[in-house]
Amino acid sequence: MSKIGGFVVVKFGGSNFKNSQSYSEVIAKIREILELEKEKTLVLIVSAAYGITDRLVNAVNNFQNIDVRNFLRELYDLHASLLEVTNDGNSYEITEELKELENRVFELERIFDAVKLLHKVPNFAKDLIISYGERLNAYVLQKLLQREGLNFELKMPEEWIITDGKFGNASVLLEPTKHLIEKRLNDWKNNHSIVPGFYGVSKDGDVTLLGRGGSDYTATVLAYALDANYVVLFKDVNGFLSGDPKIVENPILLEKLSYDELEELSYFGAKIVHSNAVEPLKNRSIPLYVCSFSGNFNLSKCTVVSNEKHRSERCVKSVSFTDDVAVVQFFGANLGRVPGVLGEISKSMAQFGLNIKFVITSQTAINLIVSKKDLPEVMRVAETLRLREIEKISYRTDKALVAVVGYGLLDTHGIAAKVFGALSKGEINVDMISAGASEVSMYFLVDAQNVKDAVRMVHNELFGED
Ligand code: ASP
Ligand code: MG
Repeated sequence: MSKIGGFVVVKFGGSNFKNSQSYSEVIAKIREILELEKEKTLVLIVSAAYGITDRLVNAVNNFQNIDVRNFLRELYDLHASLLEVTNDGNSYEITEELKELENRVFELERIFDAVKLLHKVPNFAKDLIISYGERLNAYVLQKLLQREGLNFELKMPEEWIITDGKFGNASVLLEPTKHLIEKRLNDWKNNHSIVPGFYGVSKDGDVTLLGRGGSDYTATVLAYALDANYVVLFKDVNGFLSGDPKIVENPILLEKLSYDELEELSYFGAKIVHSNAVEPLKNRSIPLYVCSFSGNFNLSKCTVVSNEKHRSERCVKSVSFTDDVAVVQFFGANLGRVPGVLGEISKSMAQFGLNIKFVITSQTAINLIVSKKDLPEVMRVAETLRLREIEKISYRTDKALVAVVGYGLLDTHGIAAKVFGALSKGEINVDMISAGASEVSMYFLVDAQNVKDAVRMVHNELFGED
């Protein structure tokens, strides 16, 4: 079904907002897209200006030790300077716009005052404070666009992005969100919109962040709710690569990825796209373009992510890694034989909202791989388990995980041999291996200190010249 006059969702990230020059470039890019997509309505998702989220996180964590007034002054100055500059570099006559900006920074000041009175930062205040990076930046960009005769309506997520309420790292409840957005569909259709990314609100109305890099997720949630034609994420890389260019030699730019492949890669460490961002797109088969910001806007030069299960010649599309893993090990002579032990373990973890990344079992051991930040809580829950079969519990934090992802890798001869052959040549010891849990990935654990070498060697074997 062709969707003439539909929506295009475009996200700009922090690296697109480094200085006033980069705002002009963003505006030029928006003009280009408007020109190409005359029939469509644009929805822009904006993240905080470069480095601002980190500074807000730092301020909120150290509010007792820093000069908050001074920090807010800097925050104001930085955004105000963007509004004061006209395109020809001359200073701009400002009144209303700066007042409005000031009001927003005053709001933030009042929140900090409340926090100081309480002597600690409740989670809801923390998320609210950090969300101001996006709020301020979306406001500034809207005003800059307006000056150029480009009218975008600023729409705030607190009115329609509903989350599960998990502070710092919330998931969006897609159906309630879609319902609220559809109720005002005409508003969305009648104007181009600009939306601050990175947060939504819980059912109780508390601001909840969507995790670092969460503006990607805001973009795909909106695409889902509006049934957009496509989503564009501008990145400071050319698109999606076969490996992290800081680690591997000559990474290849991928033309295509499937939703599943991207999900696996993001889940296992590739930080290009937020790991929750794929799910909303899958349900409605909305293509996602990961595009470089430099050069002309050209979808055919971006990596397109869709539901096409494309098998590349090499099968493997990308190698990624994460060192955010802790291994919790349950030992017992009969663990593998007795039914229900793993069930009990995962049930208890779920009760405390603890996510198990994956599980590798043998006859005498069950290994849970979890995020490092969850380790203390996972160990606490593990110690409370009263299961006869468990004789000993221990953990390790010195491991890292490498993932090899691509359609067909599991049923193609020789890929595992290549991967493990390369590692053995490089004298890298592999601890645990798992393949087959998903159609598109294979992963293994190595010593954390060797992980970059492991990634480089595997990538070289799979993508290097013969
Ligand atoms: N500004 C937020 C961050 O730095 C969200 C984003 O960039 O998407 O994590
Ligand atoms: Mg970012």
